Amino acid sequence: MTTSGPRLVLLGMPGAGKGTQAALLSEHYGVSHLSTGELFRAAVAHGTPTGVEVKVFLDSGELVPDDITISVVEEYFAEGGPLENGFILDGFPRNLAQAEALERVLAGHPLDVVLDLEVPTEVILDRIAGRRVCVTCGATYHVNHPPKSPWKCDVDGGDVVQRDDDTEEAVRRRLEVYEQVTVPIIDFYAALGKLVIVDGTGTGDEVQERLLKEIDGRVGQASR
Ligand code: ADP
Repeated sequence: MTTSGPRLVLLGMPGAGKGTQAALLSEHYGVSHLSTGELFRAAVAHGTPTGVEVKVFLDSGELVPDDITISVVEEYFAEGGPLENGFILDGFPRNLAQAEALERVLAGHPLDVVLDLEVPTEVILDRIAGRRVCVTCGATYHVNHPPKSPWKCDVDGGDVVQRDDDTEEAVRRRLEVYEQVTVPIIDFYAALGKLVIVDGTGTGDEVQERLLKEIDGRVGQASR
């Protein structure tokens, strides 16, 4: 019998829907969800020392240096809760050094599956151009699917705005960085037999159904 939730990583280009799906999956399985991007954006918004340090990287679409990013993730796992109960990582790992660091942190609690959400670049560009996010909770909307009351978050009433790094230039750089340093980790996880590619086009519900099918197929086989 499975006594804990799944241990998952979501991969995919910026705008592939990782954040939206991670939130849905976290609710479905009752496990915690770590988005390193959201965590960094919150740090910037609150002006913490980490926020001050990472702002320049976020705004330009560059990766935050590994020492900062890996220590944030180590902290998340340090208490042991997510290791035992399951978790969803969204936006981490993003390069080989991070993927290797994650293997070390997880020792004895291997990932169940790594899901790569594939979406054509034209769809990505349209999604990012129209994307709006809640400044306080990170919930995502699109100009074609706005919150119920104008630009106030359905979840917590926070202001819903365009992300500072959803400018054309930063998006172009994020897509380049994805190709150059994140795509190689797809091979890393394929070699470990953990990778599943999932079609990320269509509605959020359609994508979630595809993900659940893959996850339940994998996790159901694992004995805990
Ligand atoms: P997206 O997938 O749309 O680029 P994210 O919220 O995942 O959005 O990331 C936003 C930014 O946060 C990245 O461009 C990068 O600057 C920083 N970031 C997030 N995760 C990482 C990571 N694992 N390593 C380095 N930088 C990261």
